Amino acid sequence: MTVLRGAPSVPRVLRVRMDGALVWLSWESAGAPRLVFSTRRGGVSPPPYQSLNLGLSTRDDPTRVEENRARLLKAAGGEAARLATAGQVHGTDVRVVTAAGHHSGCDALLTDRPGIALAVSGADCAPVLLWGPGAVAAVHAGWRGAADGIAGAAVRSLAAHTPCAPAEVRALIGPCIRACCYPVGPEVLARFDASAHVVRDGTTRLDLARAIGMDLERSGVREWHDVGRCTSCEVEWFYSHRRDRGVTGRQWGLVIMDQAHAA
Ligand SMILES: [Zn+2]
Repeated sequence: MTVLRGAPSVPRVLRVRMDGALVWLSWESAGAPRLVFSTRRGGVSPPPYQSLNLGLSTRDDPTRVEENRARLLKAAGGEAARLATAGQVHGTDVRVVTAAGHHSGCDALLTDRPGIALAVSGADCAPVLLWGPGAVAAVHAGWRGAADGIAGAAVRSLAAHTPCAPAEVRALIGPCIRACCYPVGPEVLARFDASAHVVRDGTTRLDLARAIGMDLERSGVREWHDVGRCTSCEVEWFYSHRRDRGVTGRQWGLVIMDQAHAA
């Protein structure tokens, strides 16, 4: 396991990529599929969604959201016609995807089909990208999903539906709200192991990424990484539901397996 926290320890495999005004984060390591996290930079949406809002569930103009999605997909080497998205209901259902489209009622998508772009959206919730031999998955994990074990459910689903044993699965936790910005009540803390509690400035906070990482480890994952970026702190980079009091855009975690990875 490698746990990477914060900018000083972010490895060089996490790259900031730019194409004109468009900025995204790309995790680049040998044998990995395309693993991308969007930022809010480089889109066409006006305030309060400025600018690369990828969420159709917001009150932003859907034509702008589609343009933003097309820009990111093009940059990531994906195709809008092969995009798969999840309904994201803060549950633990994992959907096996063999075709593009919107898959309602689930919080994780997995596929063994090259070229399908799996995207999960968030604005504080963690996008978690998984990959192993011949298969990939994308997971949306807010505190409810994390508490109920959505990341582990995705690992088990990979093992059940593809040749990926849990020990072969690698995971990457993307930008999400961090303990620095996430004081929570006792009803939330009670759902998590004390090792995911962080006491600071007289309040107890949740370390969501750590809770997800522990769920991955319990599920047999030996190697997981955390990009360490905070959606709430980094106003110029990310959307944050909590910081912006619900009126904000959505960023994506995106994974695309290419033919070479599938083979
Ligand atoms: Zn923060």
